[in-house]
Parts: sequence; C-alpha cells; structure tokens
Amino acid sequence: MKLDYFRRDLELKHTFMISRSSRKVVPVVITQLSADGTTGRGEASPNSRYDESVESVEAFLKKVDLTRLTMPFDPGQVTDYLDSLSMHDPSAKAAVDIAIHDWIGQKLGVPLYKYFGLDVSHPIISTFTIGIDTPDVVRQKVVEAENYPVLKIKVGLPNDEEIIEAVRSVTDKPLRVDANEGWKTKEEALEEINWLCTQNVELIEQPMPARQIEDIKWLRERVSIPIVADEALDSPERLREIAHAYDGVNVKVQKIGGLHKSKKLIEEAIALGLKVMIGCMIESSVGITAAAHLAPLADWIDLDGNVLIDNDPFRGAENRDGLIVLSDKPGLGVEPLT
Ligand code: MG
Repeated sequence: MKLDYFRRDLELKHTFMISRSSRKVVPVVITQLSADGTTGRGEASPNSRYDESVESVEAFLKKVDLTRLTMPFDPGQVTDYLDSLSMHDPSAKAAVDIAIHDWIGQKLGVPLYKYFGLDVSHPIISTFTIGIDTPDVVRQKVVEAENYPVLKIKVGLPNDEEIIEAVRSVTDKPLRVDANEGWKTKEEALEEINWLCTQNVELIEQPMPARQIEDIKWLRERVSIPIVADEALDSPERLREIAHAYDGVNVKVQKIGGLHKSKKLIEEAIALGLKVMIGCMIESSVGITAAAHLAPLADWIDLDGNVLIDNDPFRGAENRDGLIVLSDKPGLGVEPLT
C-alpha cells in the first residue's frame, strides 16, 4: 500500500474576496492511495482560518503509515488512527479519508453515494458564489452567472448594501448571504439582516465571529430567516456547544476531517433539529465530487469550488448551471485531465 501526494496550485477565474481575505491562487494537496492494483484519490484544501497550510498538510501526510492498521480500508479505524496522529489537521485527514473511500468504492464497484446508502434521484442544486468586489464587477459576475438558479453572495465589509443593490439591479433570483464573521456587534448584524430580509434572501451564514455564540442566539431570536453556522462549526465536537444558537450548520468535508466524520456529523445535526448545508473550500473536482456524494443528506448545497477555478486538474461530478450530476462510476468517479 502506497500513499503519494503532490501540490497543485488552483487558479481562480476571479480574485476571490471574502470579509477576511482575498486570494487569486489556492494551493491544494492531492493524495493517491495505491493498493492491489487500484488507486483512490483524495484532496486537502488547507485554509488559514483553520490554522492549516500546504506545509502543515504535507507534514501530517509524512506521518501517515496505513500499513500499521489491521483494517486499513475500514473508514472508522482509519479515522481513529488519523486522530491519534494529531488533534487538528482536518483537511490533511480529509485527503486520506477521501482516498480510502474512493478506493473502497472502486473495489466494491459502486459509486460512493450508493456505498453510503443515499438516493440521488432528487436534483442536487448548488449555489454559485459571488465574492466581494466593486458594484460594477459584482453586477458583471451576476450576469455571467445568469443560468444558476440560486446565488450565494459574500458580504461583511462596509459596502454590503451596495453589493446587494448591484445584484438586485440585474436579478431577482433567491440569494443566500455569507458574512464570514464580518459584522462585529449584534446590533449591526440585526440591522443588516433586517434589511436583507426585504431583499429575497433565504438565509444568512456566519453573521458574526464564531466565538460570539450568545450574541448569535440573541440575533436568532429577532430575525425571520435561518442563521447558519460555518466558521463556528470547526470540528464535530463543537456541534453541541453551538446548536442552541443556530438554525443550521454548514458542513465542509475539509474542515471536519473527511467523509466518515462529515456523514456522522450531518446525522447528529439532523437529530438535534438543525438544517444542514453541505459546503466547500476552493477545491478541485476531487474534493467537490467527494462532498457531492453526501449532498442527498443536506437541505442546502454549496459545492461550486471547482467551477470558480480555471485549471481544474480533474473531471468528476458535473456542474450544469448549478445542477450537480454524479456519475455512476465506482468510487468518487473522478479522473485526471492531464
Ligand atoms: Mg461560509
């Protein structure tokens, strides 16, 4: 059994700006797990918000020796082993977990959604994300995205209302809004959300800093649209601490540490009465396709990281103007383009 990994720089079509950062190139690490004539692929898209980098991912992967396991293709045992190597490193763990799942699916001859027992007969509709920019550029991006039925709009800087007005000058389709912790006081957040409620906005993601749990609970009691945790749910263990303050959670395979943990976490969130969004980082089709196999479990889908880049090294789940189509190929169903 052999685990290889290599770095790829994903180039964004547009500079991607959110309330705390701006990026044009996103480095990721692709894993390849080869055993018994089959290769499973995975991906880590490390994010500095969660204290990870390509270097930390590579340092983690260097420590991984799956030959030490009695059941190296049991996702539960692999998860426990990876957690024994470090407390953190979620995207590095995801890169191993996804490759293991891809390998298992290929060996069993089933796509991963079937391995998970999920039904993909309902359409999987993803949002398309519009990063923060000047009103003119936002307007142009929204026009370019005219075939996508639902947009996710990034806000959280002083020009929020200008941005939403620019969007609304060209479309009246439903919007989901993500402030990425941008509003700092509960009063500011309340005022912004009350205004957004007049703009056909379906939900608001992470309006305030993750640690301000009680402020978010205060906010939730005063607004009429769902408030969804993203940065506040930075590990499975955090769920019970934040559940009372939110209506829903954004589960990303990369920040949770793999498909095995993400599926369990989604099931726990549903049991607690929370709605679920399945989201992503900027990722190639390896990571996005992996997350798409869990999409039937979610109420809201935000899996567009691969369509925001213009040098995706892989082909996987197709995104046809927001409709995500999984193939019935075994495992992830991804193949390299070069
Ligand atoms: Mg978010």
